[in-house]
Amino acid sequence: MKTAREVLDVPALRKDFPILSQKVYGKRLVYLDNAATSQKPRPVIEAMERFYTQDCSNIHRGVHALSERATRAYEDARIKVQQFVNAPEAREIIFVRGTTEGINLVAGSFGREHVGAGDEILISEMEHHSNIVPWQILCEEKGARLRVAPINDRGELLMEEYEKLLGPRTRIVAVAHVSNALGTVNPVREIVALAHSRNIPVLIDGAQAVPHRKVDVQDLDCDFFTFSGHKMFGPTGVGVLYGKAQHLEKMPPYQGGGDMISSVTFEKTTYNKIPYKFEAGTPYIAGGYGLAAAIDYLDAIGMEAIGEYEHGLLEYATRAVSGIPGLEIIGTAKEKAGVLSFTLDGIHPHDIGTILDQEGIAIRTGHHCAQPLMDRFGIPATARASLAFYNTKEEIDQLVLGLRKVIEVFG
Ligand code: PMP
Repeated sequence: MKTAREVLDVPALRKDFPILSQKVYGKRLVYLDNAATSQKPRPVIEAMERFYTQDCSNIHRGVHALSERATRAYEDARIKVQQFVNAPEAREIIFVRGTTEGINLVAGSFGREHVGAGDEILISEMEHHSNIVPWQILCEEKGARLRVAPINDRGELLMEEYEKLLGPRTRIVAVAHVSNALGTVNPVREIVALAHSRNIPVLIDGAQAVPHRKVDVQDLDCDFFTFSGHKMFGPTGVGVLYGKAQHLEKMPPYQGGGDMISSVTFEKTTYNKIPYKFEAGTPYIAGGYGLAAAIDYLDAIGMEAIGEYEHGLLEYATRAVSGIPGLEIIGTAKEKAGVLSFTLDGIHPHDIGTILDQEGIAIRTGHHCAQPLMDRFGIPATARASLAFYNTKEEIDQLVLGLRKVIEVFG
């Protein structure tokens, strides 16, 4: 078996990320906040610069060379995304601002059409606010009910309870592929299969999955899958909603405006075909360039190698922090990816974050936009170190030293 070092040449990869070589308060930056946003390699930054220095123009309607180049690049980005998640067709890829908008689009279009009074929407207890609030808004508007599948103390979805909640009134299931606060990898294939056996469609929030593992939407057979560019080494402000064409074609538009129409009169407007029906207004074109470059970059490394390396690093980190007195890991699921959430007895997570920051170590503290999940564990917040493929064992060792310092100061 290959060692983690052999799987990836991390020192070489780190050189692609200009931001990582900086010092913070005179200490080498240790960036462990990748679940919030990941850093960008040079090819992503250069691709966006290329748009602004060479191709800047509006897309789809231009007849001049710049617009044709930009349109081609933007549509090529769509094909890259299609291949990245193995979607059957490029028209099933809708560019959105990010995961949050992807979920709002499905709730506001598919949800508004299919959910009525007394119907149910099923989510899980570990969802990010972005996969709770859009459904709550819909429930309020329609008089529908939000049902929540519970988890166990390790942070794993209770599949029997989930199955029991799939009822005759369930109109859609919406669950995270990977939890941002716990790192739990949900058995999404099984979740989809159980829902489909009752003809219930499923949306997967893939925000924390795509940076860490190979995603194949045909293999998962999910109806919708959404993710953010900025968590997968691409720009902020661009993301993706994959939807099965059979759904997207029947769904009403989410927003009205330019590009999403095929003809407009004051009497009647006919809508464009998918995906454009859902892409009103000028999109984030440079974001498309950047996202395509991020996919090329990840493809060149290989998602399998990334997954394998990070798995080893997470195991190393879990072992390394386990020896720290008073430290409790929140989220100990058998299948985890990228996230190490913890509390330190008697010390507020914000104090942990502040001391670590002075050591040049960036982690996140708080409720991680998952307040109901924090309530489930009876805690207000956790400290969370989240990994990317450019993180190293040496950085984990720095984290451990930093945590020992936190205990010295507050313990
Ligand atoms: N879902 C999950 C699981 C997330 O981790 C996040 C980002 N923290 C989101 C949704 C929302 O993503 P964005 O803010 O990029 O829309």
